[in-house]
Amino acid sequence: MSPVAVYVHVPFCPSKCGYCDFNSYALSGEIVPQTVEAMLTQIETSPFVGVPAKTIFFGGGTPTFLDEASLMSILEAVMRVHPPIENCEITSEANPGTVDASKFRAMRAGGFNRISLGAQSFLDSDLIALERVHKGGDIERAFFAAREAGFDNVNLDLMFALPNQTRRGWTTNLERALAMEPDHLSLYCLTIEPNTAFYRRHLRGELHLPDDDAQVAMYDECVSRTAEKGYEAYEISNFAKPGRACQHNLEYWHAAPYLAYGPGAVGCLNDDLAQMAGRGGSIRYTNHKQPRLYVEKMALGSTTWLEEEALTPETHEVERLMLGLRLAEGVELAERDEKVLRKLIDRQWIDLTGQRVTLTAEGRHFCSEVALELAMTG
Ligand code: SF4
Repeated sequence: MSPVAVYVHVPFCPSKCGYCDFNSYALSGEIVPQTVEAMLTQIETSPFVGVPAKTIFFGGGTPTFLDEASLMSILEAVMRVHPPIENCEITSEANPGTVDASKFRAMRAGGFNRISLGAQSFLDSDLIALERVHKGGDIERAFFAAREAGFDNVNLDLMFALPNQTRRGWTTNLERALAMEPDHLSLYCLTIEPNTAFYRRHLRGELHLPDDDAQVAMYDECVSRTAEKGYEAYEISNFAKPGRACQHNLEYWHAAPYLAYGPGAVGCLNDDLAQMAGRGGSIRYTNHKQPRLYVEKMALGSTTWLEEEALTPETHEVERLMLGLRLAEGVELAERDEKVLRKLIDRQWIDLTGQRVTLTAEGRHFCSEVALELAMTG
């Protein structure tokens, strides 16, 4: 069986940030160890036992909200069930307010070899606006604690186009991040998602967000400043030192299959994996989202899947285009529609080499539009 990416979702956070639409809960008490137990059961009774892990990624939520023993027990279970391939990238997301040197040392000793720090901003005013629990100064402390614990592969997540953010404020953030010389930077534009506190505030006109031109200028600054410092813009929002692209996320962008454990985690199975789970063909599945329900389902010995959807070859092709276009390497076309390609080339949104399409610098601002145009030709 080919190795596969494994995602583990830890659904807890110290508090809920106003912009967050992830499956995360500000819960504490007995539900936390109960959820960890249920996650261990889901992993240990997995129908995919023995499938090697190509990459392992702990996301959330905040994985480092868990104590060291719980976090390590989950990783140990994953590695027992999915023996990691040589040089397997094993990442944990971490919130700068929930880590210290001792936790990082335990994580490094236990097998994690990559940390992704949710920094978001170095400015306390931004962090307060985002309702994050950490302060700007926590980021440097956490980053260097990770380095000292032996992590030579550390990502920083930052967001731009924040409420009241100025160009100068964003430049300061980028400069402070680059000065720390992380191996990887994920730089995302804040999006206002439905069902969040920010969405309701936005509807009431209470959020003062940078306009479209300012957002474009902030993004262009990401590209130019990271390039000056030797980072490769290997994906629209992701920048890596040579050899430090995120292997786990590359699996997603390559539309490869992945397994998912934990409340609300989403997995994607190709035909071979689906067969192991007793299904007839390629599917996407979502685990029960609410920790209490997830725990109850596991205790009853029933499936932890809340829903599943069949993935037809057509759906898969649209997703392959959507995801692959985000990469600097672009995507290989299965079908060609010369009229559509000519239109996109004339707009200077794409370059075409044989069957391979890549986005131009201008085209990166129109990735979804390009993907949809190409998908409709298939
Ligand atoms: S720390 Fe991340 S996952 Fe948790 S509430 Fe904030 S944005 Fe959501």
